Amino acid sequence: KRKPLVAGNWKMNGSQALLGEIAGALVSYQGEAEVVVCPPFPYLAAARAALSAGVHVGAQNLSDQPEGAFTGEVAGAMLAEAGCGYVIIGHSERRALYGEDDALVAAKFARAQEAGLVPVLCVGETLEEREAGNTEAVVCGQLMAVIEAVGIDAFASAVVAYEPVWAIGTGKTASPEQAQEVHATLRQTLAEKSPEIASSTRLLYGGSVKADNAALLFSQSDIDGGLIGGASLTADSFLAICQAA
Ligand code: 13P
Repeated sequence: KRKPLVAGNWKMNGSQALLGEIAGALVSYQGEAEVVVCPPFPYLAAARAALSAGVHVGAQNLSDQPEGAFTGEVAGAMLAEAGCGYVIIGHSERRALYGEDDALVAAKFARAQEAGLVPVLCVGETLEEREAGNTEAVVCGQLMAVIEAVGIDAFASAVVAYEPVWAIGTGKTASPEQAQEVHATLRQTLAEKSPEIASSTRLLYGGSVKADNAALLFSQSDIDGGLIGGASLTADSFLAICQAA
């Protein structure tokens, strides 16, 4: 049985004040899900201090280098020292706006694990790719690129998030059936390399998850929780989504 996971990706939003509100709301969380809060870098250490011990802190990105003369970059070891347990890798915004390709995503995945962080590897197709019938090829290709680079055993301590690009920040959620279909395909891709790892790896759905659609999405057999953007920026809605998992 996989433990559900709900992660809030603040993106470049939020403040010290929001951190206080979210931490306050999560004190009353009593559910079974693992909860991760992923604020921007400057708030990570404060998040670790403010959140209850059972709530995890995650970063939204890390460097593909372990240390050195890389101005503006942040290393995995620094994130671990700031109290992070997780790091989001290969978000579609990183891929589309900052030119991250599969090779860079795989390198970041490896650096994350070297630092003892659990990577949350994001995959997802654009609307154009979906309409051309390429959803499966795109998302499995993104996953396979990392499996081939780091090996399937690395997924024993990793999370995969399916985030259809057309559903991110658009209010257009994938239907539970659409999402389940892709999740089943992703799990099958893992299973071809290792049935054990496939059955234990958590697959999250992300893309316009809200308090009122979360429960149905999370009830699908291959959906193990969510990666939440906009709705993680309001204490009430984030708490409600955690409770739906
Ligand atoms: P929204 O929940 O705002 O659609 O964002 C999803 C996302 O990109 C989380 O990483």
